[in-house]
Amino acid sequence: MRVQADDPQRPWHEPGVYTPVPGVHRIPLPLPGDALRAVNVYAVELPDGVLLVDAGQVFSGAEEQLEQALDALGRGLPDVRQVLVTHVHRDHYTLAVGLRRRTGVPVALGEGEKPSLSVANTDAFALAPQVAALQRCGADAVVAALAGTSGRDGMPVDIWEDPDTWLTDGATVPAGERTLTAVATPGHTAGHLVFHDPAGALLFAGDHVLPHITPSIGFEAVPVPHPLRDYLGSLRRVRALPDAMLLPAHGAVVPQAHARIDELLAHHDTRLADTFAAVRAGRETAYAAAGGLTWTRASAGWTSWTRSTRCSRSWRRPRTWTSWCCRASSW
Ligand SMILES: [Zn+2]
Repeated sequence: MRVQADDPQRPWHEPGVYTPVPGVHRIPLPLPGDALRAVNVYAVELPDGVLLVDAGQVFSGAEEQLEQALDALGRGLPDVRQVLVTHVHRDHYTLAVGLRRRTGVPVALGEGEKPSLSVANTDAFALAPQVAALQRCGADAVVAALAGTSGRDGMPVDIWEDPDTWLTDGATVPAGERTLTAVATPGHTAGHLVFHDPAGALLFAGDHVLPHITPSIGFEAVPVPHPLRDYLGSLRRVRALPDAMLLPAHGAVVPQAHARIDELLAHHDTRLADTFAAVRAGRETAYAAAGGLTWTRASAGWTSWTRSTRCSRSWRRPRTWTSWCCRASSW
């Protein structure tokens, strides 16, 4: 593995060490069996090591690949000084805990993730909240497809340890010559953070702003009342920050975050208008309204899609399912 310039023409998920700007390296790590394919971990150079933004997923081959990438940078796992995690989903958080067990590296996570993490190693960490919501939304067909699934995500229950630091909105983290500011961006999860480097014009965006899809909303152990409203507010909040290079967790680096945020806001305006029209046309439940919308992946139709084997099988791994759904609403 060698360090090379980041080339947006290459498939973004190819293993390697890519340098979008001097001192910051993008390291795609594998997500086997996940339609997302990979997660970008960012290594920020420090005088005495590196700081990581996000960490990847345990038991996926990611740890070995991360070691190779750090080796290409002349570093090793013991040189990782801190891990900042954008949110608590398995593909971002679990390897941070795994690294801490191995090297003692401190891990930081947004304080808004406390409720979901507090139930993550109990029986409550399953699909019960989503099933209840689906029933309220009239999605009995989807609920039936879920029968017998555990809602677990293939992760060992004991991996869901607390971080060393709960980051609050506005917290600043020194990173060598950079200063990263944690910006609360609830929506994808309640405690999602992005890390903004205004002086360096960088935005470590996690799953808040993605270049090819719009993230799943509210798919977490303890849902909040209005996650889409929160998400749109978070998009507007980041849009009001000085523009910066978008460093996403899934997908290629994009020169300017604002342009992509504008696309996402316009997309959601369109979808909300379409949804309103479906309701006014007499579709009285969320499930029925969804059936009145267009879906890029539902070539066989909404109802058959939600009942399909692939969908029900994927429900066994909620994040996989949400990634399908991300694509269903992507454009
Ligand atoms: Zn993710």
